[in-house]
Amino acid sequence: MEQDVFERLGVKRVINGQSWVTYLGGSIMAPQVRQAMADAADCYVNIDELMLKAGHELAKHTGAEAGLVTAGAAAGMLLEAAACMTLGDPAKILQLPDTTGMKNEIIIPRTLRVGFDQAFRQAGAKLVEVGNTFSLGEYELEAAINERTAAVAYIFGPFLKAPLTLPQVVSVAHKHNVPVIVDASAMLPPAENLTRYIREGADMVTFSGGKGVCGPQSTGILCGRGDLIEAARLNMSPHAGVGRPTKVCKEEIIGLLTALDLFVKKDHAAEWKAWRAMSQVIVEALHEIPGLTVRMEDGDQNRQGPVAAIYFDPKWRGPSQQEVLKRLREGDPPIYIGSGWYRDELWVTPVTLRPGEERVVAGRLREALLSG
Ligand SMILES: *Cc1c(COP(=O)(O)O)cnc(C)c1O
Repeated sequence: MEQDVFERLGVKRVINGQSWVTYLGGSIMAPQVRQAMADAADCYVNIDELMLKAGHELAKHTGAEAGLVTAGAAAGMLLEAAACMTLGDPAKILQLPDTTGMKNEIIIPRTLRVGFDQAFRQAGAKLVEVGNTFSLGEYELEAAINERTAAVAYIFGPFLKAPLTLPQVVSVAHKHNVPVIVDASAMLPPAENLTRYIREGADMVTFSGGKGVCGPQSTGILCGRGDLIEAARLNMSPHAGVGRPTKVCKEEIIGLLTALDLFVKKDHAAEWKAWRAMSQVIVEALHEIPGLTVRMEDGDQNRQGPVAAIYFDPKWRGPSQQEVLKRLREGDPPIYIGSGWYRDELWVTPVTLRPGEERVVAGRLREALLSG
């Protein structure tokens, strides 16, 4: 039966060695999460009441005053912007994305620009870049703050170079009573990060629910100051506003809370050890191939989990990186792995491999690398 849902459409199940990425379906929910979602599916509830109570749970887990379940971290960014510009004023909520008469500038360090920051602009905000591509002085940030500033944005992500720490940004922004809004989408695990950014002074923080938390792919966590979270809530479904299209349903809300509960109780050290063992299988299958440098990279903050990294040495004469990727994707089952973050390299992260798939990936990679 289970096989049928995708086969019927002619869609192939794939092996994901590329982490919790949306284009491969994000993450896999634990059986308890799926069961909780099924339990939530056979009745009606008042969604406002559910959103508020679910928010209390998120507040407990994050140490923030309040929380809100969103339709992903990008939706969380949209709501952060909408909350800071409207501050919950009902007329302003209906006026967005037209920001006439509102504070509408969001200051963002140039080095922290990412494609996802379009979500801020979707609420009508104007992004104001500060600093250059390498650095940002606290005085530059301070000089950019004016009477139109709605918030300062801070993004955490692999390969982003933070020119100032979050506490430094917070201290400048708060001196001028400007809130700091954070995108920490992919920063879980480690679980400590759930409370870290709030502790460091952020006013609002958003995380993905469908990456390392392994909740429904379409969910996110928003947490922060009580008045701002309330403003965010009023900007989203079931209410009218720019966040109305970012709806979460009762099943997803329950699914996220269940997943988060499992996430904070999980033995993360044991999980990491199991990931290392999977990575090791891949490293061992490939490390003697001449012309390649293959090693486990564990604890690199730009990597998700302990990855098996494969570097092509200058004397490599085998298939190109692109050819290997193509062979893996065109095989049966299709396999997706990462490429090219540091240089001419391939990498496999075990965090999204299901038990046993590391052997399939190791065998298929050997084949793809060694055949003409
Ligand atoms: C994945 C990601 C997002 C988007 O998160 P969703 O939950 O998929 O909406 C935003 N910002 C960064 C840095 C991300 O890595």
